[in-house]
Amino acid sequence: MKLFIKTFGCQMNQKDSEALLGLLQEEGYFLASSLQGADIVLVNTCSVRQHAENRALSFTASLKNRVKILGIIGCMAKARGEEIAQKMPYVDIICSPAKMVEIPRFLKEAGEGKKTLALEDGARPEEFYHSSFRFEKDRAQVVISTGCSNYCTYCIVPYVRGPLRLRRPQDIISEVKKNIGLGIRRVTLLGQNVNDYHYDGVDFVGLLREIDKLDLEEISFITSHPKNIPSDLFYLMAQSKKIKKYLHLPFQSGSNRILSLMKRGYTKEKYRRIVEDYRKIVRGVLATDVIVGFPTEAEADFLETKEMLEEVKFDFAYIFKYSPRPHTAAFFMKDDVSLDEKKRRHKILLDLQKRISLNIKKEKL
Ligand code: SF4
Repeated sequence: MKLFIKTFGCQMNQKDSEALLGLLQEEGYFLASSLQGADIVLVNTCSVRQHAENRALSFTASLKNRVKILGIIGCMAKARGEEIAQKMPYVDIICSPAKMVEIPRFLKEAGEGKKTLALEDGARPEEFYHSSFRFEKDRAQVVISTGCSNYCTYCIVPYVRGPLRLRRPQDIISEVKKNIGLGIRRVTLLGQNVNDYHYDGVDFVGLLREIDKLDLEEISFITSHPKNIPSDLFYLMAQSKKIKKYLHLPFQSGSNRILSLMKRGYTKEKYRRIVEDYRKIVRGVLATDVIVGFPTEAEADFLETKEMLEEVKFDFAYIFKYSPRPHTAAFFMKDDVSLDEKKRRHKILLDLQKRISLNIKKEKL
């Protein structure tokens, strides 16, 4: 039977799909390179925004009666599994991120006509990451932690991926070494907030130092939270010849009032100081995420966000319209910025960032 995984969402989801494909290949499944000709399709979903959920749902619906086994896995399965089971009875497997390691068994049972609804949270066993299957020949992602315990009020991640869980430093390093053995010299360390990493006295900077000693060409990491960025991280980035001089540091809003409602744990002044330090010490590329239209965001708040983009001049900025996510604290606040207004603010910032990125590019020529 040929199997295909369609992945929506972030690099963490891409890595989950890769790890899962590796597990399934070891179980004897043939991996289809495209949807055409696949007998089994698993849709690995993202719940961070409503739009991502809608795309995954319509993609899954388009496969009704077209494949032998159909599964919805990942974040949306965890968030809306019961509802999906009711509304899409033709889906055979609905599986949360934590239960993915059991998918080989669920597929076997689906072949016998049994449906699976596995929505539990929990720690993933290390075996999940053990296969040698890689999407790319020269670059690999390595998960250092799953879940998140920060509970930013707009974010569904802690509810769908569970609380912060750390992989042991020795397991992470052994996966990096395995990649080196496969001829891979560029790795990206993945965590919802890499700065939260702290295992038996090894913090994120300590972990990076160990990985920096290995035979790699490039080490990158995402994502860093401004509230607890370690002070020695920038010195290590500056000294190392391998650590990529790239920092993804979401600021989300330029209004302290909105940042406080988002429970982000920093002010715009603190954010600016971090950026100053980063530019002085590392002189690297800077990327960010911004949300427009968070509940109660007034024009004045929005203008502060715009001002932040104008002042900092990020190399890249990913700008999103707020959408209420179930389970989150902000879900219970009134979503009082109209969609038209969100679209207007979104476009203003997109246009602004386009001009900034273009100017930065021109200056570098
Ligand atoms: S740090 Fe905040 S935004 Fe990032 S994953 Fe955790 S809860 Fe979500």
